[in-house]
Amino acid sequence: MPKIMVVDDELEICAFLRSFFEERLYEVVTATSGEEALRKIEKERPQVVLLDIKMPGKDGIDVLRELKQKFPKVKVIMVTAVETSDKIEQAIKLGADNYITKPLSLEYLEMDVKDKITKLVD
Ligand SMILES: [Mg+2]
Repeated sequence: MPKIMVVDDELEICAFLRSFFEERLYEVVTATSGEEALRKIEKERPQVVLLDIKMPGKDGIDVLRELKQKFPKVKVIMVTAVETSDKIEQAIKLGADNYITKPLSLEYLEMDVKDKITKLVD
């Protein structure tokens, strides 16, 4: 079963994405802070991480930086609420594999997650 991690400080988004992807037979792990995400990732080893940029404490950029250093193979899709193009640019430079803006287009998101996992298998 493909495994993803959803990282977002908004509990509702974690819950919503969890049920959306679980219905589509993904295994889903959630984290509501950057710190929690970095703690969990070592044990959980998801193939794809959906990573909110704006979070208190360690934000998505901080998490991305650490994550790509430790686990370069993990695919990371940045999730951002507002038009923060400088942050997105920074994320791409740090190795983010794609980004999606809120409100989320779930069809697009699912397609992208699938695409990332397929590329890992190949
Ligand atoms: Mg947020």
